[in-house]
Amino acid sequence: MATTTTERSAVVIGGGLIGCAVAAELRRRGHDVALLERAVPGAEASSAAAGILGPQLEHEEDGPAVDLGLAGREATLAWARVIAAETGVDVELGEPGALVKALDDDEARALERRVAWQRARGLRAEWRAGERAAFLPDDTTLDARRYAQGLAELAKKRGARVTAGVPVVGLVHDGAAVCGVRLADGSELRAGHVVVCAGAWSTIVPGVAEAAGLSHGAVFPVRGQIVELAGTPGLVPTMVYGGKGYVVPRKDGRLVCGSTMERVGFDKSVTAGGVRMVLDKAIKLVPAIAELRVNATWAGLRPATADGLPLLGKTRAPGLLLATGHLRNGVLLAALSGELVGALVDGEEPALARLCDPGRLAR
Ligand SMILES: Cc1cc2nc3c(=O)[nH]c(=O)nc-3n(C[C@H](O)[C@H](O)[C@H](O)COP(=O)(O)OP(=O)(O)OC[C@H]3O[C@@H](n4cnc5c(N)ncnc54)[C@H](O)[C@@H]3O)c2cc1C
Repeated sequence: MATTTTERSAVVIGGGLIGCAVAAELRRRGHDVALLERAVPGAEASSAAAGILGPQLEHEEDGPAVDLGLAGREATLAWARVIAAETGVDVELGEPGALVKALDDDEARALERRVAWQRARGLRAEWRAGERAAFLPDDTTLDARRYAQGLAELAKKRGARVTAGVPVVGLVHDGAAVCGVRLADGSELRAGHVVVCAGAWSTIVPGVAEAAGLSHGAVFPVRGQIVELAGTPGLVPTMVYGGKGYVVPRKDGRLVCGSTMERVGFDKSVTAGGVRMVLDKAIKLVPAIAELRVNATWAGLRPATADGLPLLGKTRAPGLLLATGHLRNGVLLAALSGELVGALVDGEEPALARLCDPGRLAR
């Protein structure tokens, strides 16, 4: 592999949604980019996701995380158009709108409060007292597998060198700075910037936690299980959400039901208890789906952090950046993360990135 150490070059570790978005944006900004993925792009959490773009349904309280989510939704919709134009991949945006149902009295009161603060800040949200539900017309969905494929294509089309089947096994240092990565065959790939987008594995990529001043557990896996049902188009017109469960319709009628939030290490098993929990919630939300055939089940590992916010930006080691820890919102925030990392690499200081500064979790 060719080596390069100029300021305008980057190595991206990991080919999930985040790594591909970062690579695509850095290419747009004129950097030389190599992306290294140990398996294939989209192999992990990114292709397991339901694809909800739900900043309004995700947050119970107002705050800076909502600002991040709203900016993420806007960026994703813009990138969906760019992906279609530059690669021809349709990420299959869903029918806009989310019906958020209260499953008990406490949830109903919380949901009514949520509608009130969202309307007060100028967002569209409607309380439907008769249904004990809120309708959020601007939250929406996409097909996460298609999005992962589209972002990988976008990065490649723009000239990033995307290599599958190559795990990064270490960092290369120049004094305190990080100036490249080490591969299993002992070779080195040098670059002005190394961006770690290795999902739930980010702080166990050898050398990353040490260089960034983080613990090995700063990013940890949270398992999510999904059950896909064989529905028909129009049966569930828009996504239905409630009690942290959801039913997301795909264009062809399939229904993606999720999900669990489990701290079980790097175990991607689908379990009887997980499937029961997912289906219990889904059937409460949309009773008619009880009769449908189960198409498939799967599980993925969300990259989590202690405060639930991503780690996005420069670290104490010059040249080393992190773009990870997106937990339940990696689809929603991939495009925005690409934009923020691109800006940071180019020395800009976008206000939204401050919230996600990796330094806040440094030891
Ligand atoms: C069941 C489930 C449902 C979800 N639903 C939603 C949703 O509806 N909306 C939403 O916004 N988010 C959702 N998410 C969250 C979202 O999927 C994640 O936040 C997002 O995919 C994280 O992307 P990533 O690129 O950081 O990680 P990943 O997709 O896990 O990618 C990391 C990549 O790094 C690679 N890698 C790891 N170590 C190395 C190494 N040493 N060298 C090279 N490569 C390496 C891995 O192989 C992997 O491909 C869901 C997640 C799950 C599991």
